[in-house]
This record gives sequence, C-alpha cells and structure tokens, in this order.
Amino acid sequence: MLIESVYETIGHTPLLHLNIKAAKGSQIYAKLEMFNPGGSVKDRLGLALIEHGRRIGAIKSATTIIEPTAGNTGIGVALAAQKYHLPVKLIVPEKFSFEKQVLMRALGAQVINTPAADGIRGAIAKAESLAAKTPNSYVPLQFQNPANPDIYYKTLGPEILHDLADLPIDAFVAGSGSGGTFVGTTRALQERYPHMQAVTVEPVGSILNGGPAHSHRIEGIGVEFVPPFFKQIHVDQVKTISDDEAFKYVKWLAKHSGLFVGSSSGAALAASLQVAEQLPAASTIVTVFPDSSERYLSKHIYD
Ligand code: PMP
Repeated sequence: MLIESVYETIGHTPLLHLNIKAAKGSQIYAKLEMFNPGGSVKDRLGLALIEHGRRIGAIKSATTIIEPTAGNTGIGVALAAQKYHLPVKLIVPEKFSFEKQVLMRALGAQVINTPAADGIRGAIAKAESLAAKTPNSYVPLQFQNPANPDIYYKTLGPEILHDLADLPIDAFVAGSGSGGTFVGTTRALQERYPHMQAVTVEPVGSILNGGPAHSHRIEGIGVEFVPPFFKQIHVDQVKTISDDEAFKYVKWLAKHSGLFVGSSSGAALAASLQVAEQLPAASTIVTVFPDSSERYLSKHIYD
C-alpha cells in the first residue's frame, strides 16, 4: 500500500475474532485501535476535531489548539494539527502515563500538567483559562463537541458493520471516558440492529453505577460526570470493572492472543465476558480495544 500521508492510515483497523471461550458459546469480536498511526482510537477524533474546527471557522491560520486530555486525544490532536501547522498546548492531569506525554511532545505539542487531585475537571478549567489569555486560540473540548461521537458514528460503527457483513450483533461493549466512542458507535450499530444491547464499561472509582469517585489504575476510561452524549442513545447497562480484573485480561491477551493492549481493553474484555453470561447462547458481542500496552510499560502493566 503506497500512501502520501500518515492521515490515510487512520481508521479501517482490523476486527479480531477473539480466541477466548465465552459463556454459552458466544463469540467476541474486538476492534484493534492500536493500529492507528498515533496508536489509539483517538486518532480518529484528533483529525475530526481539527477538521470540524476549520469547517466552523474556529480554526484559522496559526490558531493555537488547547485541549484537556488524558493523553490519547492529545496524541491524536497533535498528529492532526501538524497537517495545518497549528501550535498545540495539551492540558494533562499529572497521573496519566509518561509515555503518552513523551509522544505528545515528540509530535510538537506543549504539555501542561495539572494536579492529579483536580481530575479532568481541573484540566478543563485550566484549558479554558489559558484560552481566555491566548489570542487566536481554540479549545475543541472533546467532552462536549458533537464532532466526537459523530466521527465514531461515521467511521468505527460502519467499519464493524462492513466487516461482520450479515452477522447480527447482539451487544456492543465499550468503555467511556468522554463517551464519544461508545455513543457514536452504538448509534451506528443500533440503526441496523435496534434490539442490540449497548453496554458501557467503567473502572471501579468512576461514578456511572453510583459508586464513589476515587483513583484507579485503569487508564483512559472512567468519568467524573455523566457524559452529555449519553442522551443520544439508550444505555442498557454499565459494567464496573476492577483494576485487578482489567489487568488480568491485559496479561491474558498478551499470552494467548499475541496482543499488547492497554488496561481499558482489558476492562472491555472483562465486561464482554460478563455480558456473554447474560445473553442467550451463541450471541455475537463486539467490543473495542482502544490502545496498546506499550504506552503503559512505565506503569508496570505486566508486573
Ligand atoms: N481507552 C483509552 C485508552 C482512552 O484513552 C480513551 C479516551 N480517553 C478511552 C478508552 C475512551 O474513549 P472515549 O473518550 O471515546 O470514551
């Protein structure tokens, strides 16, 4: 495949039929998003946020892009901003992985850390105050921007439908950080299969099932507020997965499927296996593995 730019390699990732024994002979398929050029599902979003900003006239020549992020969106935004030579400042709470911050800087972005204790809300507040002081700046704000779920509705969902051809999908299981991946993809899949179960995944320490908010080792998913995008769909269930469960499946996938996945992928698999126990025999479950473990080696992901 001869290509002219790295942007041509965003999306069209493989959908892997997993070799794991799920309850009642159900089958699990996982979209392998680490095959995007910046290594995660968020490369789709980075490009979408920049193109959307240009379309609405918010991004002009030399506009500074400022975005609060746990990391992968930052990498996606920095990658996309290069296309138009835009300066990028990423606001990242301190707790997120060192490797992701190294990659953001390598792409040319400036990384500004906020205290871990202030969470993603602290990063959002910092992004907004910095934007107020920076002339010709724009905050795409993935947590509210309709371009976020829309890009998954337009790309990830249709890719799954295409790859499974006429095989009906009984459940879609995906983690939520901003909620964009889960909501946009669910919308696309439910248009074709209206009775499909939509199941989102959060770590213990996230608030969707009413549990108290606290820190967790699983990175990239978990919310401090209900994502506003959830209003676009019917959410059938929220699966709350412990750090230990997620890391158990991260290790299992390396050992048995040759896959280096991050902890949100481990949580997605743990939740998919629970969903298999609830569904009728021989159901088809689709999930998303958002990124690779290689950006979490300093966090002792395999120890
Ligand atoms: N997994 C990882 C590793 C992520 O970085 C993210 C994005 N923060 C997600 C899952 C969740 O994606 P979304 O923001 O679309 O809910």
